Amino acid sequence: MSDTGTTHEFQAETKKLLDIVINSLYTERDIFIRELISNSSDALEKMRHESLIRENVFDENVPLEVNIDLDEDKHTITITDTGVGMTRDELETNLGTIAHSGSGKFVAELADAARKDVSLIGQFGVGFYAAFMAGEKVIVQSRSWDGSEGNEWVSDGGGSFTIKECPGLHRGTRIIIELKDDAHDYSRKWKVESIIKQYSTFVPFPIKLEGETVNTVQAIWTRSKNEITDEEYNDFYKFIGNATDDPHYRLHFSVDAPLAINAVLFVPKENFEAMGFGRVEPGVNLYCQRVLIDQHSENILPEWLRFLKGVVDSEDLPLNISRQSLQDNALVMKLRKVITKRFLKFLAEEAKRDSDYYLDFWNTFGIYIKEGVTSDYEFQKELAQLVRFESSRSEDGKPTSLAEYVERMGDGQEEIYYINGPTREAIEAGPYVEMFNKKGVEIIYTMEPIDDFVLNHLGEFDGRKLVSADRADLDLSKSGAADSDDDSTDKLAEDAGGELISWLKKNLEDKVADVIESKRLVDSPAMIVNPDGFMTSSMERIMSASRMEKGLATEASKKNLEINLASPLIKQLAELVKNDESFAAEVAAQIYDNAMIQAGLVVDPMVMVERNYKILTRAVGG
Ligand code: ADP
Ligand code: MG
Repeated sequence: MSDTGTTHEFQAETKKLLDIVINSLYTERDIFIRELISNSSDALEKMRHESLIRENVFDENVPLEVNIDLDEDKHTITITDTGVGMTRDELETNLGTIAHSGSGKFVAELADAARKDVSLIGQFGVGFYAAFMAGEKVIVQSRSWDGSEGNEWVSDGGGSFTIKECPGLHRGTRIIIELKDDAHDYSRKWKVESIIKQYSTFVPFPIKLEGETVNTVQAIWTRSKNEITDEEYNDFYKFIGNATDDPHYRLHFSVDAPLAINAVLFVPKENFEAMGFGRVEPGVNLYCQRVLIDQHSENILPEWLRFLKGVVDSEDLPLNISRQSLQDNALVMKLRKVITKRFLKFLAEEAKRDSDYYLDFWNTFGIYIKEGVTSDYEFQKELAQLVRFESSRSEDGKPTSLAEYVERMGDGQEEIYYINGPTREAIEAGPYVEMFNKKGVEIIYTMEPIDDFVLNHLGEFDGRKLVSADRADLDLSKSGAADSDDDSTDKLAEDAGGELISWLKKNLEDKVADVIESKRLVDSPAMIVNPDGFMTSSMERIMSASRMEKGLATEASKKNLEINLASPLIKQLAELVKNDESFAAEVAAQIYDNAMIQAGLVVDPMVMVERNYKILTRAVGG
């Protein structure tokens, strides 16, 4: 039966991707060679793994390698590998659609990056379709390791491709690229060799350019540390991380017990997730005796370390382990624990060695450390050493560690205090820090929405409870500062104070849980505190926002209002209640709203403004 071939349309997202690749990425053309070699390398890794776990592999004894051949006269470059190859169905799916989950989003992000800065493209791994950067026609001949007949895939990068039978192939894949007129350089040896040296030195299989091996195949992580130069490490990082710059940190370590591990881990300089390019995929590959078991492994490190790039190799893993069984494999879990602890210890050492350099890391990747605290109890103790916050004692922009806070604590201070606010200025102008400043007790400023969750999850540090300063039951006697006996200040007489408080309770009944005399306000007339010891105002704000997003009712829990009986406003209010109770009620409602705003909580702005005008009118004598 002769096969005249079938024609297939590219998936819509693929068409868009092709359009970007062909029209926008002109300056990044060289990477098509990297992408194709990387696919060959993937296919060879899979082959190496398959041949370990299966019998009857087609072309079993063909050596695992990549061959690149050039034809300067016909202007072609041909890349051949002896990897797993593809069946007809696989050709159709793999080279017609985009494998990425959420491919629509992926293409949109890519288009965005292409507009902003094409040099970011490397991060995306455009994949096979990069071949059309340089090729006007691309031919893929492939035969699967299952031994089924080979096929040929052909396309000019327009809307469609064809597939037909192609007898007589060996196992693996051959990609023939007929180069565009302005891309003939890619059929010249010097050009192709320099690109391989730049991007593909660390491919773990021989790459033969016109028969000559151009890379060194030894795995860098198995070599001894003092033989490896910084440049080699950096090049390796660029290779596995698709990066164009050097890493921020690098950790190369080997251990024998409790498991044999060789690992090289890198922290990048940039956080692409924060730059708006979507969630980063895990960047550490799992090997066993130099055989790739799990690329971009989700299992070898916790999710919150997904920003790391690198390699973990352990001889203790069974070579024939399947990818599916990694997830709940006890050995993998043990590896994960050992490596994570080792890496966190490394970060703690680096923070000590050069704290400013660590702060650069913290500013870029601190969000992942926080994610770790809130999602992974297992490493909480180590993570607690790594978090940094600003405080009333830290310099602006130079956050402090919890350990440093504890070191500075005065005698008798039993708790660590914190308060959330949008900025340092806002916190320092607010009511919550007044007593801390007066007593000279340090207080941490949590300025990111997630921070209160982080400290809440930690619960304590070094045996000291972490306490939010907006708690109703805050007990400043645990702050260690001397009780400044302030009853001498000119405050409202006890019975008048009591009366005012009962009046306020009645008046604000539907808004507050309780009204109490404040023991900690110095200048401000009032503040909101949380009777629920678990929730802080900042946490409540986030949770009600997320309920709102989901279209759920947002019923804020009632707060306590603390009032300062020494404040002139409160004293005058007690008088006003006697003379003009209905106007006093307006003032009370306004004091409550002001306190809510200072707590970062929501009030009804329309009602508030209208009332405010009423009060102002009185103030100007209206
Ligand atoms: P990715 O490598 O990120 O999966 P690509 O676009 O580079 O995406 O490749 C798409 C798919 O095509 C691969 O996942 C693989 O299944 C298949 N493929 C590409 N090149 C080869 C090859 N040389 N040998 C075998 N399969 C290949
Ligand atoms: Mg690829």
